[in-house]
Amino acid sequence: MGKIKIIKGDITKLRCDAIVNAANSSLLGGGGVDGAIHRAAGPELLAECRTLGGCCTGEAKITKGYNLPARFVIHTVGPIYYEHSAVEAEALLSACYENSLKLAREKGLKTIAFPLISAGVYGYPQSEAIRVAVETMKGHAEEFDELTLVLFGEREFGFAGEMFGEFISTPSSTR
Ligand code: ADP
Repeated sequence: MGKIKIIKGDITKLRCDAIVNAANSSLLGGGGVDGAIHRAAGPELLAECRTLGGCCTGEAKITKGYNLPARFVIHTVGPIYYEHSAVEAEALLSACYENSLKLAREKGLKTIAFPLISAGVYGYPQSEAIRVAVETMKGHAEEFDELTLVLFGEREFGFAGEMFGEFISTPSSTR
């Protein structure tokens, strides 16, 4: 059974098979984690993204990682929270994780890291976003070697510790 980990950090620094990008539907870059990933990957990432024709909410597309330590980037588009009912938003957010993992599986990728999709400018409540992320990851843990949820802020890392303490990994608790 694969491992689920929750860490605090910058997803652009992770050396894994794929990192997931919380992109917007144009796939042409944006702020937040999307901007950070494009800056770290370099302009070739944007060039490849231009060939993809955008991406619908809840779906996912894959590119190479270019200058990132990660080999691939899986771009998924989370729901803008206030554009949907809570039930619909949760279904779309869950689809982001499901479809990203489906692409990873098809490519034979084994170690995948996710940011907290939709929980930045897209306004998804952080604890709820963590719950959806971890529940979906748990459903697929056995198909992968390691699934990591990368939290950027102290606040969301605190929530995750309260909700899913068993998966928390800190520099002193690893290895
Ligand atoms: P969205 O538009 O899907 O809400 P954001 O990029 O605004 O996407 O935020 C998604 C999450 O990614 C937020 O929790 C934000 O704090 C986090 N984030 C921003 N930069 C990074 C980074 N370099 N590594 C990991 N997470 C990040």
